[in-house]
Amino acid sequence: MQNVTQKILQLPQNLPLMTLQVTPFTDYAHACICVGELVTSGQKAFSVAINPEKLYKAEQDRELASLINQAQIFICDGIGAALAVRVLDGRAITRITGVALFYALVKKAAVAGWRIYLLGAAPEVNRSACERLLQDYPDLQIVGRHDGYFTDSEKIVDDINASGAEILFVAMGSPKQEAWIAGHRERINAAFCMGVGGTFDVVSGKVRWAPLFFRQTGTEWFYRLLSEPKRWRRQLALPKFLWLLVRYKLTGVRHFNSRANP
Ligand code: UDP
Repeated sequence: MQNVTQKILQLPQNLPLMTLQVTPFTDYAHACICVGELVTSGQKAFSVAINPEKLYKAEQDRELASLINQAQIFICDGIGAALAVRVLDGRAITRITGVALFYALVKKAAVAGWRIYLLGAAPEVNRSACERLLQDYPDLQIVGRHDGYFTDSEKIVDDINASGAEILFVAMGSPKQEAWIAGHRERINAAFCMGVGGTFDVVSGKVRWAPLFFRQTGTEWFYRLLSEPKRWRRQLALPKFLWLLVRYKLTGVRHFNSRANP
């Protein structure tokens, strides 16, 4: 699917990064244009956010790496991922965070009339995220929504298809959301599916979006550590990722595949 999508839509060529990839969008507008082309053409794609935690975990778990690599679009979500591209590839690429891209797409959807479906988060969070979006963007077409705690996936897929959604946002955490999207991508009619992690928690107001200072300096992870200290275990992936990056740099390998085909 990747080649076809890239050929037709002229998405930027993905850059291999460790065991995963990143899509070098120039900015949010560029990413929105590509999603718009998907919606218009009906071509199917799904997107994952690439951050140091995913890069580190995928290095340890090749099944996870191949699951994530089923996506076609890999947004460079973490400053660490952008740093890794810089260190290993010598390229400066723009960070495109999941929450900010979600808002950019919603804004565009309200104007362009794209139909969206919100899947994921706790029932109350899902409902309130939906209400807040409609308050801010009265023209937004939210054609369906469901919380992320369900057992009958087939029923959910039927509901998404019956809604006529063109964009599906899935907020069930990683790697659950990626596994769910990959497992159902063929059956889901929406052109674009995007894993958005804890975004609905932010949109609903349950979790505060990192203040501008942290977003601008790429230190959202530090803000999250301060505001949700119980996530400290997940943050341990950061120093491990930096060590992994040093190892890649020292061995002169840019990405996993080049080990097999130097
Ligand atoms: N979630 C869900 N279904 C599940 C597990 C989690 O909908 O079975 C939701 C959870 O309520 C939260 C989001 O997924 O809204 C996970 O957010 P987190 O910030 O942990 O995402 P990640 O950092 O893993 O991308």
